[in-house]
Amino acid sequence: MQVQIAAFAKDRGVAPAKVIQVLEDLGVDHDGKAFDADQDILDLLTEALGEAGDEKTLRLASGVTPRDLATAMGVAQPEIQKLLVTKMKVMATLTTSLKDDIAEKIAEAYGYKIAWGSGAKPAAPVAKKAVVKAPEGDQIRPPVVTILGHVDHGKTSLLDYIRKANVAAKEAGGITQHIGAYQVQLPEGTISFLDTPGHAAFTAMRARGAQVTDIAILVVAADDGIMPQTIEAISHVKNAEVPMIVAVNKVDKPGSNPDKVLQQLTEHNVIPVAYGGDVEVAKVSALTGEGVPDLLEVILLQAGILELKANPKGELRGVVVEAKVDKGRGPVATILVQNGTLKVGDAIVVGQTYGKIRAMTDHLGERLKEAGPSTPVEILGLSDVPMAGDKVEPASDEREARGIAEERAMIAREKSLAGPIKRITLRDLRAQLNSGETKTLNLVVKADVQGSVEAVRGLLEKVQNEEVDVKVIHSAVGPISDSDILLASAADAIVVGFNTKPEANAKVQAERAKVEIRTYSIIYELIEDIEAAVKGMLAPKFEEQYLGTVEIRVVFNLTKVGKVAGCHVTDGKVLRGAMCRVKRDREIAWEGKIDSLKNVKQDVREMIAGQDCGIQFDGWIDFKEGDVIEAYELIQVN
Ligand code: GDP
Repeated sequence: MQVQIAAFAKDRGVAPAKVIQVLEDLGVDHDGKAFDADQDILDLLTEALGEAGDEKTLRLASGVTPRDLATAMGVAQPEIQKLLVTKMKVMATLTTSLKDDIAEKIAEAYGYKIAWGSGAKPAAPVAKKAVVKAPEGDQIRPPVVTILGHVDHGKTSLLDYIRKANVAAKEAGGITQHIGAYQVQLPEGTISFLDTPGHAAFTAMRARGAQVTDIAILVVAADDGIMPQTIEAISHVKNAEVPMIVAVNKVDKPGSNPDKVLQQLTEHNVIPVAYGGDVEVAKVSALTGEGVPDLLEVILLQAGILELKANPKGELRGVVVEAKVDKGRGPVATILVQNGTLKVGDAIVVGQTYGKIRAMTDHLGERLKEAGPSTPVEILGLSDVPMAGDKVEPASDEREARGIAEERAMIAREKSLAGPIKRITLRDLRAQLNSGETKTLNLVVKADVQGSVEAVRGLLEKVQNEEVDVKVIHSAVGPISDSDILLASAADAIVVGFNTKPEANAKVQAERAKVEIRTYSIIYELIEDIEAAVKGMLAPKFEEQYLGTVEIRVVFNLTKVGKVAGCHVTDGKVLRGAMCRVKRDREIAWEGKIDSLKNVKQDVREMIAGQDCGIQFDGWIDFKEGDVIEAYELIQVN
């Protein structure tokens, strides 16, 4: 039947524009004046008009997701999830279909009623944000979690407890294999844990370009509070921009003070939800298991908010978590699948190694034929042992895989011959700024006492200009450690020490990773250097390094070459091109460069103690028998 819009609107006491809006929402054809409708459509329209006028009624189809609800009410998605988990004890991701009564309860909490419709897409009364559909095939994947914290705060115990409580008990033998990662399956969802706690593993992976962790758990013992490695871990996690959950552990211990830990955390800019921030905290005991289910729940909640997705049918992507050579089995690697599905028989390239997967087992030692996203598996069949953090990529067959791996190995060799990896240095900062390579100067600051840490940090943060951001990514009391170097290499930072020195091992590591360390004992020199570097005006600083001592025993006058000093090396060595100071009667007769160095008539690069040689100087011939030459080199120290 033909219905006039104006009359229909008048009958129901609404504006004609409202009728048109509802007609469009329901997808009913109209020409602005009239529309065709049967009784069903009229009923639907009447119902919709009644509710559309009521801002507090949501018209939704059955099976809504938390995300639909959030959109319809104009509420932030995490809020809905939090409500679900904490108040209603319902574990759901953003795209899980909710039971109608649960959805109604949520709506009620925000003052809405739900009118369940037939499936016609509802008009959202508040927010009309488009729901972005995930690309075809993308599915929610389990979160990958790493546990960090100070030594002895219970990282290993917590990992063990979670594994035992959720994994081993289900197995007949209850024997789990250590493969570097494990997965727990809970009724509410699955979580993958990386089994090497601590920030060394976390940051080493990142330094190699692999970001594996989705969520970091910071363990802090309630009886000990925030300790140096806790602060380091906070810096590492913040720098990697990974969401953090705090597990206050050992709450079973008499004298433990979880609230003090929360207070301390705020001092390090980790603000718990209880203090108005956004960091979730779970109070747990790895000994008794108290609070551990809450922790797991919070992890799943956080994962839901992150909407971690991967496509099991997509291209294979993975990363090596751990690798070793096994006597009987050859190279063994634990791989975390990040996208796609890894199958037995697949040809893969893993960093500079390759192979065809011979066998695959999970953390229970069970044989698998395939593994999807976020699953850790141990694989056999690689040509060699890859490195943790190496990427796993597909190849069409073993031959192709081998070709790619070998080419990579060759390029890597050439690169290592070509010179050290390029890293940021204060001297090159200006050049790197000019070439657009960087805009930030990241610094790791270590100092002798807390007062100086604060002072240095405060002053450094004032050194800014419009081109450079000076950012202190970590600051702490103590010597410069391995962990500082690791963080600096992952974040391309420079380490500055004030009244403190690098530990021996850190020095070696820094040389290997080409991380610059600068130490100072005068605060304004430190600040001046950074200021100068930012302006691109840092003058090179040289230090003299003694090489050796040489005596002039005879002076030759040769027709073709001119005057030559016949010398004997009495200590150390002398190099062609080295700097030298010529002393005569305790006075310095000349200072300059050694131009030529000869052994009899042959040009040589170096002569050592006990050898005789002929020396000519760069632009000086007034040398005499008995002169003593002190040779040295100038080493650039910045
Ligand atoms: P990690 O160095 O952080 O891995 O710490 P561990 O897991 O090795 O734990 C250090 C010590 O603390 C061990 O002796 C554990 O038994 C003990 N411990 C760990 N968690 C708890 C806990 O929740 N309560 C108590 N009372 N002791 C714990």
